[in-house]
Amino acid sequence: MPAFTIGIDLGGTNLRIAAIDQDGRELQAISTLTEVSRGREYVIADITASTALLREKFARSHKFLGVGIGLPGIIDVESGTLHSAANLPGWQAYNVRDDLAQRLDSAVFLDNDANCAALGEKWLGAGSHVDDLCMITLGTGVGGGFVFNGKPWHGVLGMAGEIGHMTVIPEGRPCLCGNRGCLEQYASATAIRRAALEAADSGESPCLAAARAQDSALTARTVYACAQAGDPAAMRIFAVAGSALGIALGNLINAFNLPLYVIGGGVSRAWNQFAPAMFEQLRTRSIVFRAGEEQKRTHRATEVVPAMLQDRAGLLGAARLPVILRPGRCCSMAV
Ligand SMILES: [Zn+2]
Repeated sequence: MPAFTIGIDLGGTNLRIAAIDQDGRELQAISTLTEVSRGREYVIADITASTALLREKFARSHKFLGVGIGLPGIIDVESGTLHSAANLPGWQAYNVRDDLAQRLDSAVFLDNDANCAALGEKWLGAGSHVDDLCMITLGTGVGGGFVFNGKPWHGVLGMAGEIGHMTVIPEGRPCLCGNRGCLEQYASATAIRRAALEAADSGESPCLAAARAQDSALTARTVYACAQAGDPAAMRIFAVAGSALGIALGNLINAFNLPLYVIGGGVSRAWNQFAPAMFEQLRTRSIVFRAGEEQKRTHRATEVVPAMLQDRAGLLGAARLPVILRPGRCCSMAV
């Protein structure tokens, strides 16, 4: 009998729940908005109902292996509790794992959204050929996750992977984390948008000024369109982001010497604009990256690649959690 799990990708805006089979095929998905404003109990009841529906439907033809959930915020994976979640007010100190397990009468496994995305890319995306990888997600903020030996790495406080708060410019822009010059202040969609607004206001970019006149929100996607049209200011904004990313990545490559670093999140779609500056920094600053380039005929070089699964990575990674984390599992997923 084939097996399946249920993955839950709970974001501050979107809630996606899907039954996923052992080969990563989506049997059925339920997508809705996370109605955070209606309170935690409403959202949990919504999750419980959809999960129970999917389980009942597919448990007739598949063996059910459990539920995996990815959440934004800092999670104590051992206790199953959310330490903090800026996008989920009222969820702090809540034991989401035990509550869901009780309501569903099922094993529930949880992790943060960045680790789930890294796990999803490891399973079915850019990292399916390696056991160890690092993923950096360039979204509203900058997130990070490590997968070692096929499993997420959490660190002693469950805070491993705070790559967005690595210092790339000492005494640079202040960050909400208390530091200055964090990667997130240069390579997130928020940072790109802020730099674009400054360029539009200063008059140095007619393209960005025109775009702003049409839509005062100015998204990173619009900045990318201006860069693609050859606007020097927009191109420079992505070069700054790529350079900051290259500095952080160079340090990670020197420290870990992993085979693969995956760049995901919405900003990663602007790869052709920021990657040249990123690789320039890697070649300049990282002895390990250079060694990989010099020895790639005989050794595996360091790969830095864009993500493949985009916004499905977190859902697929969450669905993978019950398989890799359940006690007593054997070496194969085919159970
Ligand atoms: Zn920071």
